[in-house]
Amino acid sequence: MDEDHSRQLRQQNILAKFGELALQSDDLDEILTEACRLVGEALGTDFAKVVELQPDGNTLLVRAGVGWKDGVVGVATIDVADDTSEAYALKTGEPMISPDIDEETRFRYADFLIDNGAKAVANVIIIGGKDRPPFGILQVDSRTRREFSEEDVAFLRTYANLLAAAVDRLRVLKEVRDTSTRLRLAFEVGELGSFEMDMASGRTTGSDRYHRIFGNPAPGADWTWDALLDRVVPDDRDNVADAMRSALAEDQELRIECQILRGGDRALRWIELRGRQDSEEGIRLVGIVADITDRKLAEQSLVATNETLEEKVSDRTALLAESNAQLDAFAYTVSHDLRAPLRAMEGFARILLEDHGAKLGEEGERYASRIVGAATRMEVLINDLLAFSRVQRADVAIKVIDPARAVRSAIAELRGSGFDESVVTVDVAPSFPLVRADRTILAQVISNLVVNAAKFKAPDRRAHITIWAEPRAEGVRIWVEDDGIGIAPEHQTRIFNVFERLHGQESYPGTGVGLAIVKTGVERLGGTYGVETSLGAGSRFWVELQAAEDGAREEPA
Ligand code: ADP
Repeated sequence: MDEDHSRQLRQQNILAKFGELALQSDDLDEILTEACRLVGEALGTDFAKVVELQPDGNTLLVRAGVGWKDGVVGVATIDVADDTSEAYALKTGEPMISPDIDEETRFRYADFLIDNGAKAVANVIIIGGKDRPPFGILQVDSRTRREFSEEDVAFLRTYANLLAAAVDRLRVLKEVRDTSTRLRLAFEVGELGSFEMDMASGRTTGSDRYHRIFGNPAPGADWTWDALLDRVVPDDRDNVADAMRSALAEDQELRIECQILRGGDRALRWIELRGRQDSEEGIRLVGIVADITDRKLAEQSLVATNETLEEKVSDRTALLAESNAQLDAFAYTVSHDLRAPLRAMEGFARILLEDHGAKLGEEGERYASRIVGAATRMEVLINDLLAFSRVQRADVAIKVIDPARAVRSAIAELRGSGFDESVVTVDVAPSFPLVRADRTILAQVISNLVVNAAKFKAPDRRAHITIWAEPRAEGVRIWVEDDGIGIAPEHQTRIFNVFERLHGQESYPGTGVGLAIVKTGVERLGGTYGVETSLGAGSRFWVELQAAEDGAREEPA
């Protein structure tokens, strides 16, 4: 009884001693080693260890111990296999005792235990913190066979729980330290000052940087919300006071951007202030402040740059429009003024031919004829260019008109230019839907399509042109279809550009201006255009214009 009593007393002493150490020390290895030493002493084995469950969940590492040879503590591991006492202790949370390893039939023990002379083992789990896996196992070893009494086991349980609490305390401590390190770094990198304000008095304590941002002489300066408001420039002061009032009233995050006159150098700075209420101990506002002057200046200069950029773009656009208009006028004048000397040249060459042909001789006559030919081609070119220029420059008068008129006048023009009706036949639809367009421009567009349809006929074959229109979702589409030579796919876009031609003058004379007139004209009418064709299979050119409203009547010219 006496012996029991003194053992109990020893064990209680040891619990108390360990409890003190566990609260004082921040060093996990020191706590674990001391735990092993004391438990060995308490149970009189002087032989114990703590094995720590590794993150993989399958290995236990001998983290601390007493009575072991070199090469065990910090090195040896135990596999958490099903047939070990450690696995069993971890799984069930119950203490596992092997009074004699040699006689043990339930479990297998790691070799290093036997090598170190362990004969008996008691395993007690060291639980983890809330919702965490166990930390590991406290193992009391014995070099001789040993029965662990009920009292021993009860002591070990209490002891292991104390150890678990100590380990968890250190884990939490480490987390808090890590978090505050991260926070401190974030504050440094973000150049943020932090503060706490008592809402009743407005009294504020701030970090060094907080006070530097406000230009206060020393940290710990006697600083209040009113003093802060005093630094805010008069224009911003009411807004800042309002923001604070409504953040308090609505229990919301405080968020202020304002300008201050910094203490000391009286420099004008932008600051951003954010805070949240914390009502645990009275009402406090906890928050951060940053000097955002550089960002603000950058933003302002960006806005200024954008404004000047916009101004520049609109200036340039106006300049460009003006120089385009000048260019158009120039082209028109040049073309127009070229006509008179050209006519003179042509006229004189004809006179030479007609009145002085005999004197010129054969060679002279040939040259004079070539002058007449060249002058004629040039006149065609000048006329086409003038027509193109007119489509670009003409005033557009959009009216409700009947496309049939434009078609009729195009065909009349074709006849006037001497096309042979026995070679080219034209079929025109009996009626057309009314459109909204400019009469002159539409006539030019249709005329160029019809002239081309007649011109690009297949050689040695009669040509047939069909002209009709159909209502579309977006408007009215007018078609000019021929059964001529067609156009290869790769050329179907570029032929609408000015001077783009696919043939030499000998096979198909022309200037390459006709389809440019179609394109520009349709664009000026707000319509669209296109062609469906392939080489040798005829072409279907179309233009799509705005439809007249239902029931509208054609307006007079
Ligand atoms: P031009 O008729 O004076 O050559 P255009 O601008 O009217 O100039 O036409 C450009 C080119 O597009 C023509 O040279 C021709 O190669 C091709 N093209 C135009 N219309 C047709 C058509 N109906 N069939 C085949 N090719 C055409």
